[in-house]
Amino acid sequence: MSFANDVRNELARIIPEKECCKKAELSALLLTSARISRQTGSLYNLEAVVEKAATARKIFKLLKSQELQSSVRMEKRRRFTKTRVYLVNTPIENEQGLAKINSLVFIEDARIKPQVNQELLSKACCRKAFLRGLFLNRGFINRPEGEYHLELVLNDAKLAADIQRILLRFKISARLGERKNHLLLYIKESEKIVDFLRVVGASSALLEFENVRIIKSMRNNVNRQVNCETANLAKTIDAAVRQIELIKKLVALDGWEGIPDKYIELAQLRIDFPDNALSELGTMLDPPLSKSGVAYRMRKLEEYADKRLQSK
Ligand SMILES: [Zn+2]
Repeated sequence: MSFANDVRNELARIIPEKECCKKAELSALLLTSARISRQTGSLYNLEAVVEKAATARKIFKLLKSQELQSSVRMEKRRRFTKTRVYLVNTPIENEQGLAKINSLVFIEDARIKPQVNQELLSKACCRKAFLRGLFLNRGFINRPEGEYHLELVLNDAKLAADIQRILLRFKISARLGERKNHLLLYIKESEKIVDFLRVVGASSALLEFENVRIIKSMRNNVNRQVNCETANLAKTIDAAVRQIELIKKLVALDGWEGIPDKYIELAQLRIDFPDNALSELGTMLDPPLSKSGVAYRMRKLEEYADKRLQSK
């Protein structure tokens, strides 16, 4: 089971308590899954097609709360792979029924317009429910162990812009993108994805997401530290290589006997122990020198060598 599936399962089980939120969520669910057809016998038929049984049950329950009787059936469809879809059918037998549907989504020329019914979204509780319904049918979220990614496939520029504004009211900024002719809104910032999960009420998924996010950020910190230590080590090695070359050139020029007494012991140690840190060479000196003491003496030795080599 994918993480996206876990989120959808969790969201499918949530039935809003308030009447206003029920309508808002149902509106999003129908907007993203339903089509309408003229029917002989009844006035119209509203048919919602969804991929999850739990979502179908939710649509059924929410329709019932609006006194709209529907029936659910499963159908096997073969597209790229064998998939099951669930169809929620609602015959609309009179003008009254049509008015109910019209208060949720906009019907024009026997089709549902891809348009947000703003009247249902004046309250924050309803906007949350609406986004929940939207995610159930059009949402995808990547597992938190991977790249952070949440998207809503919308396929209509005006609809996408409206949803973008609704998200912004929760301080969630989503970007508009396109993939294989699909228009979508996507979020890449982990904090914003967490905000989205909180807004739609996916508490268990939110907890799992946060846990993984914490582990990942700790791991990143450790990596950064290791990288930093590796960089320091590289610097130390570079310095040792430079010092050794300089000393060898100096010896080639003046011979060991030409090197001033105060530097000779350190110069020899440097050549004999090329892999050791300066501080370690310091402890081998007689008398021993501290880390800063040996660094100072090495700097002086390098300055002396540079001067000698330039004046030759
Ligand atoms: Zn509400």
